[in-house]
Amino acid sequence: MKPIQMVDLLGQYEKIKPEVDAALLDVIASTAFINGPEVKAFEKELAAYLGVKHVIACGNGTDALQVAMMALGLKPGDEVITASFTFVATVEVLALLGLVPVFADVLPGTFNLDPADVARKVTPRTKAIVPVHLFGQSADMDAMLAIAREYDLRVVEDACQSIGADHSGANGKRKSGTIGDIGVTSFFPSKNLGCFGDGGALFTNDDELAHRIRRVCNHGSEQRYYHEVIGVNSRLDSVQAAVLRIKLRHLNAYAKARNAAAAAYDNAFSRVNDITIPERSTFSNHVFHQYTLRVANGKRDALRKHLEAAGIPAMVYYPVPCHLQNAYKSDRFPVGSLPVTEQLTEEVISLPMSTELDPEQLEHITRAVTNFLN
Ligand SMILES: *Cc1c(COP(=O)(O)O)cnc(C)c1O
Repeated sequence: MKPIQMVDLLGQYEKIKPEVDAALLDVIASTAFINGPEVKAFEKELAAYLGVKHVIACGNGTDALQVAMMALGLKPGDEVITASFTFVATVEVLALLGLVPVFADVLPGTFNLDPADVARKVTPRTKAIVPVHLFGQSADMDAMLAIAREYDLRVVEDACQSIGADHSGANGKRKSGTIGDIGVTSFFPSKNLGCFGDGGALFTNDDELAHRIRRVCNHGSEQRYYHEVIGVNSRLDSVQAAVLRIKLRHLNAYAKARNAAAAAYDNAFSRVNDITIPERSTFSNHVFHQYTLRVANGKRDALRKHLEAAGIPAMVYYPVPCHLQNAYKSDRFPVGSLPVTEQLTEEVISLPMSTELDPEQLEHITRAVTNFLN
């Protein structure tokens, strides 16, 4: 059996190696490393794939979140409602800009923002909502947009884990990240559309916002050496764009492979004691950035040890919610309790998930899990 990894990036690369190697050599020979034609072509192709008017590539997903907040013109003291059960980047950029992250709880089945709790957290200072489409499934965007309309809020979708997922809502079927005012994603190597280093992008259908996003990414400048607003330096390089153009053509097949692995897991675990398989939303399909189980009765950590002994890596995303991280435990970041979030951090475990898992590996993993729990 091939050794089991959380993500098999080498296996994925080997299948597209000739194409990727040729494209990389072309970029090197072109020496157009920054703002080259590959980046423009990738932005166009990704926009077409997503069905969105503008894609603006940038340095990474964290930058994309920060740039989104800057382009929206949010001011220090403005409150932004988001999840605590997320990767810290979502919250970090708010804190860096002097915005106030206000945490809402998530739903135990889908791990995504609970619309009822989001509505409860709105105050006169609230300016935006950042739904995180965790583990590859879209949050309830109809509910988020309804709250945003009622209180005149902006919506920035953190689609770092959900690129390619379809949300079926009031406006029909739309790609995750293209429904709110701005969507952001990450091309970190292990993400569903991963490059060979750092990368990220913002999506919007709003021409004026697209213009402001490009300007912030480019030092706040439209004309070289003239700066209209305070900006940052955040750009995708041509090497990464060349890799992403190739991988984008495989993204639907990658999602299919992830779903096949998830189906094998579901099938093996649906009747095992103390396990809850990931719930599927009625309004979103799943692209399984992670396959995340809930393990009841305090058995999660022992299961993880058992799997490790059987040569199976497993990860806890996330062991500490943002509101309980040392960096965010202060008067600057007011929180009440988030009971579902806190319980999930005790129960969740993510199993190996990649485009390359074979039946033998899946059998080994599912047997190890069921043997331990039965
Ligand atoms: C990966 C990720 C980010 C950050 O992306 P980087 O490219 O690593 O900066 C932000 N939010 C979520 C939910 C992520 O999974």
